[in-house]
Amino acid sequence: MTNPTDVAPETRSFEADVAKLLHLMVHSVYSDKDVFLRELISNAADACEKLRYESLSDPALAAGGSPQVTVTLDPEARQLMIEDNGIGMSEAELVEALGTIARSGTKAFMERVASAKDAEGTQLIGQFGVGFYSAFMVADRVDVLSRRAGSDQAARWSSDGLGTYTVQSADTGEAPEHGTRVLLHLKEDAASYTERYRVQQIIKDQSGHVPVPIFLKEKPD
Ligand code: ADP
Ligand code: MG
Repeated sequence: MTNPTDVAPETRSFEADVAKLLHLMVHSVYSDKDVFLRELISNAADACEKLRYESLSDPALAAGGSPQVTVTLDPEARQLMIEDNGIGMSEAELVEALGTIARSGTKAFMERVASAKDAEGTQLIGQFGVGFYSAFMVADRVDVLSRRAGSDQAARWSSDGLGTYTVQSADTGEAPEHGTRVLLHLKEDAASYTERYRVQQIIKDQSGHVPVPIFLKEKPD
């Protein structure tokens, strides 16, 4: 039997539209970069909701306790982590969800951006929920470690947002029992997203309506 951690990461290219969107994110002069946190927390809460729904027909799926989102600040490493114990993603789902642009909201966004001038394009980020990729406004690398509920395998996705990403299977020992861990390696000018007061305020302002409890932790604790 092969140890999944022995399997080399596979490098893949983003779909052309994703690459365009990422370029816009990375070079964004859009001042309200705070929205990335709202987007990642909303994904985490959606994942908890999906698990709740699926476990109605399969109660064994919800083994990881009551739904929650944990935001961990690591100022020393200049990292921010958003973790949920929701539905999680398989390796194939990571590729589909974080490598393509199948989602209607993002498609509509791209159509607007295509016909907009640069400055308008960056403003559109605020109007549309452009989701996961907004993480690259503040991070120069994003690692996602995920385990689909009910699966005995975990998977890892990683990208610098510059055109390619890697996926590989991962050790379940490192992954959440089920759910997803999104680790942002923050850009130098985004270090303030490891400040407790600042992050607390953004969560309060932008994620107050989220139906899942959000915990804020500091590392090392
Ligand atoms: P949207 O939330 O509008 O679908 P996003 O760009 O925010 O778009 O996310 C893309 C997709 O990635 C989601 O639809 C979902 O399938 C998947 N995804 C992102 N974050 C998570 C997460 N924490 N848990 C499970 N799936 C996720
Ligand atoms: Mg989303």
